[in-house]
Amino acid sequence: MENFELLPLNDLMRPEGFACECGRHHSVDCKYLSIRRGAINDLPEAVKNVGGTKPLMLCDKNTWQAAGQRAFEILSANGLAPTVITLREHGFPKVEPDEYSLGTIAMGFDPSCDCVLAVGGGVMNDLGKMFSLVSHLPQIILGTAPSMDGFASNSSSMVVNNVKSTLYNACPAAIVLDTDIMAAAPMRMLWAGLGDMVAKYISVCEWRIAHLVTGEYYCPRVASLMRSALKKIMASSEGLARRDPDSVGAVAEGLVLSGFAMSFAQISRPASGLEHYFSHIWDMLSLERGTEADLHGIQVGVGTVLTMDIYEGVKALKPSREKALKHMAAFDSAAWESEIRRVFGKTAPQVLEIEKKAGKNDPQKHAKRLERILDGWDEIQRIIAEELPDRDWLLGKMRETGMPMTPTDIGISHEDTVDAFLRSRDIRDKYMSSSLLWDLGEIEDFAKRL
Ligand SMILES: [Zn+2]
Ligand SMILES: [Zn+2]
Repeated sequence: MENFELLPLNDLMRPEGFACECGRHHSVDCKYLSIRRGAINDLPEAVKNVGGTKPLMLCDKNTWQAAGQRAFEILSANGLAPTVITLREHGFPKVEPDEYSLGTIAMGFDPSCDCVLAVGGGVMNDLGKMFSLVSHLPQIILGTAPSMDGFASNSSSMVVNNVKSTLYNACPAAIVLDTDIMAAAPMRMLWAGLGDMVAKYISVCEWRIAHLVTGEYYCPRVASLMRSALKKIMASSEGLARRDPDSVGAVAEGLVLSGFAMSFAQISRPASGLEHYFSHIWDMLSLERGTEADLHGIQVGVGTVLTMDIYEGVKALKPSREKALKHMAAFDSAAWESEIRRVFGKTAPQVLEIEKKAGKNDPQKHAKRLERILDGWDEIQRIIAEELPDRDWLLGKMRETGMPMTPTDIGISHEDTVDAFLRSRDIRDKYMSSSLLWDLGEIEDFAKRL
């Protein structure tokens, strides 16, 4: 068995992948990776590498300006002129990764294209991966900002029927990250990349806790890979805020590594815990209200600070079986349903459907989880101590970059913060710290401290 978590990025891409004692075979579909200053000039090589001759290029008006136009010129000069689809916002303040945008790409599709080139950050990359899945064409991503860790993941964060959902597909076949272009991105996008990564302390911690409580799949080597990505990024966080291209490069490598970890695990679990659910629910509330949500990574950074504070409370908690059983016995499903309807509005039926499948409010399932929590409480405390950094150290690292740290900093109300925390366990069947606190009958008390 190889310690793949210690290998450099290019070695992780080997086509035969890695056999692992967790029972899964780990590999990524990425064949070509270029992260460097001036990497945009490697686009022709990337296109040829995936067997392409004519890319279908996806961008929006911002990413066209940041890199799309130059990419078009470079490709055209090399006999690889792309067909361009420029996505536009429709009824929302920005382009959403939803049915409308994916439909726009399908309807604008040029059948002479033999690969997909997404130019941008999270939204373009997510749409490119989805269209690549349905068209069976290989995808290339030209990243314009180090704003999230989805470049190399095998999933897209999509809006499906107004619900933020993870849809699985494949890691892009080629990833081109030009650190000069990325360093020139708006500062908010640089902060967002850091926000999406500080989250990983919590994601990995909650993955281990979920494994203990629910028996969910867990791979210690993938968790280590994620820790390496995190280490890379935390070491460069200060330079990122100065737009130092070398620091931006190190952060870009960390973001790709994080995506590889997700691709290896075949799930988004190693990269997302409660901190991400604050963001998912704020996004859903914005869609419902027709207002503009902040960048994914910015919201996730704020969610990380909130979740770090929640864990300070978990560390001091003495769990009580009596309190937990009383909370379960008092559970009123009609009142719960009316809360779902109040918070989610038009999207409530989809959220109620999720519980029908998951059945996490079922008292028998609760009883089983509760026993595992109570038996494993020392182990849970040990996991927290091993995975989470010192709160003040982490907040200090974030603060020195100037990034937003609190819901108020990004215009989120106290009510939306409390609702996001309480409802986080309802929008997907995923076990997180909020699930743990619900199981222990503590969630309402913790919500009061937010
Ligand atoms: Zn494994
Ligand atoms: Zn994320």
